[in-house]
Amino acid sequence: MRLKTDIVVIGGGPAGVGAAVAAARHGAEVILVEKEGYCGGMGTSGGVPAFSPYSNGKDIIVKGIALEVRERLVEKCPDLATDYEKWQPIDPEFLKQVYDEILTEAGVKLLFHAQMTGIKKEGECLREVFIQTQHQIINIEAEYFIDCTGNAELVALADGDLNFGDEDSNVQALTLCFRLGNVDTKRYLKYLEKTGNDGNLTAAVNEAKKLDDFNIQEIKVAGAINQQKGIVGMNFGHEYEVNPLDPFELSQAEVRARGKLDVLVNFMKKYVPGFEEARLIGSGPSIGVRETRRIIGHYQLTEDDYYKRSVPYDVVALSNYPIDLHSATFNEKEEGENKEYYNSRYNKGEYYGIPYRSLIPIGFKNVGVAGRTISADRKIHGSCRLMNTCILTGQAVGTAATLLVGTSSDLIQVSMEKLQEVLVTDNMYIPTSNELMGGFYVQS
Ligand SMILES: Cc1cc2nc3c(=O)[nH]c(=O)nc-3n(C[C@H](O)[C@H](O)[C@H](O)COP(=O)(O)OP(=O)(O)OC[C@H]3O[C@@H](n4cnc5c(N)ncnc54)[C@H](O)[C@@H]3O)c2cc1C
Repeated sequence: MRLKTDIVVIGGGPAGVGAAVAAARHGAEVILVEKEGYCGGMGTSGGVPAFSPYSNGKDIIVKGIALEVRERLVEKCPDLATDYEKWQPIDPEFLKQVYDEILTEAGVKLLFHAQMTGIKKEGECLREVFIQTQHQIINIEAEYFIDCTGNAELVALADGDLNFGDEDSNVQALTLCFRLGNVDTKRYLKYLEKTGNDGNLTAAVNEAKKLDDFNIQEIKVAGAINQQKGIVGMNFGHEYEVNPLDPFELSQAEVRARGKLDVLVNFMKKYVPGFEEARLIGSGPSIGVRETRRIIGHYQLTEDDYYKRSVPYDVVALSNYPIDLHSATFNEKEEGENKEYYNSRYNKGEYYGIPYRSLIPIGFKNVGVAGRTISADRKIHGSCRLMNTCILTGQAVGTAATLLVGTSSDLIQVSMEKLQEVLVTDNMYIPTSNELMGGFYVQS
């Protein structure tokens, strides 16, 4: 089968949803290709239990489609509502529905159970992608292509330049998230109040360790959050030294992580008040991958940008989330202290900006990327990989592509003034130069 469209988005994670919805709302014909039977990426197929805060303590800085997703989710599950400065719990079943609805209403043509496996390129222009479905291969020709695969699959297939992990190609540890039901949430919340712990449960881990009853390579729970009454989403357990792009290593990591679940659940039952009668209701479905490839774009965001609170002239998204790097190898001290996460935290009201140039890979005229694979060094990647930020970068590049449909112009050449104007009209928070006077560094 052959199809022709204005824009094709590969990958229906948070970035792909943002890109496809934005592009379709502005009138482009959009096909979204997703290998699972639903959207959401790590937030659904990886069971990641929460969106990071939307506010920097002063303003809601994560707006646009990302904010809409949050509001729609809370409308479906009012008992999930928190304020914008807090983590927003996710119920993965409702999140799938929110993504279905927002995409369908925008008019995006959904192609689920479909994996991109090849491309056709002429010079610096991509012409087609080859999509493997169960019964046939579909060739999709498009004017613009947006890679939201989380692994820069499209850019990799097209021989684009990429970074992978650190200088020794190590990547952050993987986690199989899981959900526990039948939790007495009232007792659990009281316990958190009493210990002063957040979802990291350090007090419970330390107690188990004292009794020599925690013989797994973990220092704390990465995060536990109420998802529905009596149901808690767990980001707990690490698989270290795995290359997620090696299918055999990834398979072994899945098996090891599932094999460990009993131990993790028993720890919760034994040491965390409220969990005594807890039951495992589900894992993943797949192990969560935090990091693989990052593109080399027209601008590479850096750690320096993070610490300088840099806001570039072509800012298209904001973040204030700290540098959050899980170790690649088990390192008790590093995991335990995760100093950079705490030390890098911004003060109220601060943010840095993600430039449009970081979304466009060098060597391509009609390819953009969004999500966790944008052009960034590893440190700042640890900050901008969060799901709501991924929706924002998706919205930015999807909007840019739509503005150019019919012109065949290079994506990098979109009018920044026009793009930012449209993003602001679409309720994204793009700071004006007046707002930047408070000591922020403005990159030229
Ligand atoms: C364990 C863990 C805990 C995390 N905790 C949090 C948290 O608490 N809060 C938070 O905000 N973020 C968290 N993150 C980070 C966040 O989930 C990811 O960085 C984010 O989901 C990345 O979004 P994305 O759209 O770039 O990629 P993904 O979410 O990975 O989505 C990519 C999509 O592309 C599809 N795809 C891939 N290749 C192809 C192909 N060839 N053809 C078709 N489809 C394809 C995939 O099926 C997937 O749906 C966590 C991540 C992990 C792994």
